[in-house]
Amino acid sequence: MELRTVRFERTYPPGAIQFLDPKLRQAGPLAVQGSAELLPNSGGEIRVRGRLSVRMEAECDVCLDIAAYPLEVEFDLFYQPAAAGPRKEEVALRLEDSELDFYEGEGLELEDVLREQVLLALPMHRVCREDCQGICPVCGANRNRVQCGCRQKAPDDRWAALREL
Ligand SMILES: [Zn+2]
Ligand SMILES: [Zn+2]
Repeated sequence: MELRTVRFERTYPPGAIQFLDPKLRQAGPLAVQGSAELLPNSGGEIRVRGRLSVRMEAECDVCLDIAAYPLEVEFDLFYQPAAAGPRKEEVALRLEDSELDFYEGEGLELEDVLREQVLLALPMHRVCREDCQGICPVCGANRNRVQCGCRQKAPDDRWAALREL
């Protein structure tokens, strides 16, 4: 019945949102502000807009060091109602405990929206830096920090030649 826009401004401390990836962690508060709007004459579609900022940390895919990702994400998303569609009298928009309730018994968790936006903003390959040198296969040193000087054995072509005989 009540059609309106709700505004939100929230801060989530690390741990409040589960990212479901053991290599990933939230390194500072996640701040978000935005609005959710029930679109008129849309059959109950809602539009969620906003901006979030957070510092994420992930294990570097190459050297396992910590790679930092300060993220600033703007989002503008449309959510369709559940398949059956709303009955008019059920339509309402409110924000309670991070849940955008727009139908009775149906809701959209703001945390889910934020998790998805953060995961989308992170690169597929997470590396601590473009030219990460990785870990020395001989001594295990992190070659970004240590010049261990190990020599990687070149494949020995003589044996390869023998095998071909
Ligand atoms: Zn690295
Ligand atoms: Zn080494």
